[in-house]
Amino acid sequence: MINKQELEKIKEKALAEHIPIIMDETLEVIEKYLKKSKPKTMLEIGTAVGYSAICFIDFLAEGGRIDTIERDEQRVREARENIEKVGAANMINIYEGDAVEILPTLNSKYDVCFIDAAKGKYPFFLQQALRLLNDNGIIFADNILYKGYVMSDYNKHKQRTAVRNLREYIKEASENDMLETEILDVGDGLAISRKK
Ligand code: SAH
Ligand code: MG
Repeated sequence: MINKQELEKIKEKALAEHIPIIMDETLEVIEKYLKKSKPKTMLEIGTAVGYSAICFIDFLAEGGRIDTIERDEQRVREARENIEKVGAANMINIYEGDAVEILPTLNSKYDVCFIDAAKGKYPFFLQQALRLLNDNGIIFADNILYKGYVMSDYNKHKQRTAVRNLREYIKEASENDMLETEILDVGDGLAISRKK
């Protein structure tokens, strides 16, 4: 079991530093699913300082493992320290680098994928997650409603590319015959796609 006090410290520090860690209500939804299905392998895109990966690990099956990808060198360093601190180093493996480059090199299969990185790359991440997902697996994508921009006619330049790609993700996940997709208005929006 992960030390809850250590976990709380990691969370507080991340929040204080404005690192966009998973929101409580989003975490609750995912944990409920993990509790029920007890997956063995999980792929996370966007580690940050390891907070979500550490949260998930308690809910995996005995011997469960998480592979997680992060491109920011300093965050990788901090994530490794955090993972070490809570005693999860043998359960969480960090790939350091850009997920756009790393994902195509992966070949092992996962029961769960959690997409939580660059919004502009979500359609690509979906494609790769689908390739790496076991039958009956599930893909979660955080921040899918992006502060409400995705479902409004919001079109400011700064977020335009992100919004366009998040909309494309929703369209592709919804229209894909292999998937059953729902969009939940929890936290910053969560897409849940089950592989049929
Ligand atoms: N899942 C974490 C939060 C992730 S925040 C948690 O809930 O605790 C998103 C992270 O994705 C950032 O740290 C950012 O550096 C990383 N990221 C964004 N785009 C990426 C990419 N293309 N490849 C790898 N990491 C990426
Ligand atoms: Mg997020």
